[in-house]
Amino acid sequence: MVRGRYLGGSTTVNGGYFVRARREDFDRWAAAGNPAWAYEGILPFLRAMETDLDFGAGDVHGADGPMFVGRGELKHPAAAAFAAAAQELGFPHEPDKNAQSRPGFGPVPSNAVDGVRLNTGVSYLWAALDRPNLTVVGNGRVLRVVITSGRATGVLVDHGGLHTPLEAGEVVLCAGSFVTPHLLQLSGIGPRADLERLGLPVLKDASSVGARFSDHPRNRARVRSGSGETKTPSAVTTTTDGSSSVLIEPSTKILRPSAPVTRAWIRRGVSKGMGRL
Ligand SMILES: Cc1cc2nc3c(=O)[nH]c(=O)nc-3n(C[C@H](O)[C@H](O)[C@H](O)COP(=O)(O)OP(=O)(O)OC[C@H]3O[C@@H](n4cnc5c(N)ncnc54)[C@H](O)[C@@H]3O)c2cc1C
Repeated sequence: MVRGRYLGGSTTVNGGYFVRARREDFDRWAAAGNPAWAYEGILPFLRAMETDLDFGAGDVHGADGPMFVGRGELKHPAAAAFAAAAQELGFPHEPDKNAQSRPGFGPVPSNAVDGVRLNTGVSYLWAALDRPNLTVVGNGRVLRVVITSGRATGVLVDHGGLHTPLEAGEVVLCAGSFVTPHLLQLSGIGPRADLERLGLPVLKDASSVGARFSDHPRNRARVRSGSGETKTPSAVTTTTDGSSSVLIEPSTKILRPSAPVTRAWIRRGVSKGMGRL
């Protein structure tokens, strides 16, 4: 699986979509027993994390957060054709996909502004490097959590082949959806049968660690146009949730990533007629 091993993690290699979940999703998570996840409660945090270059400060957006967000103008011929076709087929226009309006077609909000990606390392950590209570250790790989008398007291780090324990009053594991449960299991926290099969100590039999993982696989058909105007590689993407998009990719240099220059996207729930697009 592709993952970003870098300051900023997978936001260094991801698609640069800066798309909020739908209100119904947040409210569903709240109703499932997590009241703090209700949309109205989360909205101030969503606003605080962004500087929305298109819509600015308002009820829905923020204008002084660390993540810069912008949308393309669907100028590229392929994106413009996609938008025109969507319009012709009667899909509603959705100029701001983070505004919780009626799902439709429109540009995708992106944290790659002018083709340059702003990952969370740049947006959050570089800005805080001067803080006396922050030390960033590069090229250090955590091997496991150190647990003493049932309490996490630090981590064991491999630094250039040297295994060094780092003590901590509090340990927050945020190594991504694959490595976080893996580290817990290496530390003796996970399903007993799995740990015993691998010869790992069982400090806590926790069946949920590493379980029920899901991702969103995509089918991608890459097409090239023979016309002079659309020689840039373009792709038509259909995701398993039924949304569909056309994307135009710039060159794939670091910080000029696969993030789209311009992207038109139709949200799920309005997929009728998609085949004709
Ligand atoms: C190809 C791809 C495309 C994506 N596209 C989008 C998108 O367009 N929009 C979107 O919103 N999301 C997208 N995502 C998802 C998004 O990037 C992730 O949800 C997000 O980065 C997860 O953040 P995280 O902090 O949980 O983990 P990560 O970003 O994976 O960060 C984990 C960090 O832990 C570090 N680490 C791992 N193991 C160790 C270890 N043993 N010791 C020390 N450090 C370790 C890694 O180096 C990394 O810095 C995409 C993901 C991928 C992989």
